[in-house]
Amino acid sequence: MKEIFIIGGSSSSLFLTSLITYYKLDYKVTIIEKNKVLGRKLLATGNGRCNLLNKKINEFSFNNEETKSLITKEDIDFELDFFINKLGIELTNINELVYPYSFSAKSFTNFLLNYISSNKNIRFLTETIFLDYRKNNNNQYEIITSKGNYFSDYIIFASGGKSYPSLGSDGSIFNILKKHNYKITPIFPGLSPIKLKESTKEIENERIKCEVSLFNNKDELIYKENGEIIFKKDGVSGICIMNISSLILRNKLINPYIKINFLNNISLNEFINIFNIYLKNNKNNNNFLLSFYSERLAIYLYKNINKSFNNNININNIDKIYNLLTNYKFNYLSNYDFLSSQVSVGGISYSNLSINDLSSKIDKNIYFVGEILDSDGMCGGYNLMISFFTSLKVVKALSNYNKK
Ligand SMILES: Cc1cc2nc3c(=O)[nH]c(=O)nc-3n(C[C@H](O)[C@H](O)[C@H](O)COP(=O)(O)OP(=O)(O)OC[C@H]3O[C@@H](n4cnc5c(N)ncnc54)[C@H](O)[C@@H]3O)c2cc1C
Repeated sequence: MKEIFIIGGSSSSLFLTSLITYYKLDYKVTIIEKNKVLGRKLLATGNGRCNLLNKKINEFSFNNEETKSLITKEDIDFELDFFINKLGIELTNINELVYPYSFSAKSFTNFLLNYISSNKNIRFLTETIFLDYRKNNNNQYEIITSKGNYFSDYIIFASGGKSYPSLGSDGSIFNILKKHNYKITPIFPGLSPIKLKESTKEIENERIKCEVSLFNNKDELIYKENGEIIFKKDGVSGICIMNISSLILRNKLINPYIKINFLNNISLNEFINIFNIYLKNNKNNNNFLLSFYSERLAIYLYKNINKSFNNNININNIDKIYNLLTNYKFNYLSNYDFLSSQVSVGGISYSNLSINDLSSKIDKNIYFVGEILDSDGMCGGYNLMISFFTSLKVVKALSNYNKK
């Protein structure tokens, strides 16, 4: 029986070995994982709820044409069918976002671990660090680890990217692969909070539901999304912000900025009406922003926009104030670093690979799946989809070898 070594006890390797187990492929599989347990990142997904996939794919869902070509609308039905009807894991969804019915990443991960543990041909080598590989004369690979050397016919790299190193994937794998002549596109921390040029210290921890728009330095709108944002002392976070952080990198934007609509779903007429009611009951017009915001946020916004209306909110400038609050500008400084980014932008270049099965063009019988690739998605389940569908590609290739 041919041997496969999977590097990384990752989300992808759990999907991959579940597929191998379900389709009864005839391989002896070893998973090498540096942590004590497998699937640490999967456990952390979706705030512990595991946002497994997204039923809606749009132009922003994935970062490049190669990744887009791996996942189509029909594939989504395949994935749903695999988990629900093949493995018996019930799923549920909030709008387009699909989760395990348990809303528990822990029970989902344990389900997969139990399932693959039932396959006698799969073994786990935990607390073992993969260090390198070399070809030997029998068309096999020698796998060099911190706990000794092994031999294998196939190697599948499922070792993740560089984000959230506390969960295991610290990017050291890229240095190993560079030595073997793999081209690695520059790696940046995606899906992260962003730092702003303006100080936000006074509104640290303030949360608000709003619309955020991203612009390039030619004032062209790149993207907009509604959602809750949370201010940090030097920037801002939230799902829509994390998506924007990846788009800035993908589009290589120089000096981009964001505009926040602090009056989401409130029209100018409604705003004026509320002001008129406020005037009847209050003497100090300049406290008007307390009608909408927490005290800290109202003071912050008032302080920063009042240069434009001479410290006096009145019926003559109320439309101008509306305009300032619906187009409030912050200048982008940088993304937060890998410690707080959910996904790496960049990775193994598709130029090294055959897109049909994600096999290496450099070394025979080597494959890549998941975040190690130059593939990333927006928040909302797209990154676990990349793990699942890249794994599926490789399993299909392995299944063809099995038939030969
Ligand atoms: C906090 C957080 C929440 C997230 N939530 C979601 C979500 O809800 N939905 C979604 O779609 N995506 C989410 N993501 C992104 C998603 O989790 C990742 O994209 C996905 O898990 C990547 O899977 P992977 O298989 O590529 O690698 P990973 O799951 O990152 O696993 C890589 C594994 O390889 C091991 N490894 C690396 N190098 C070596 C080595 N040299 N030797 C041995 N072992 C090694 C690591 O220890 C690690 O266990 C989230 C990410 C984070 C950080």
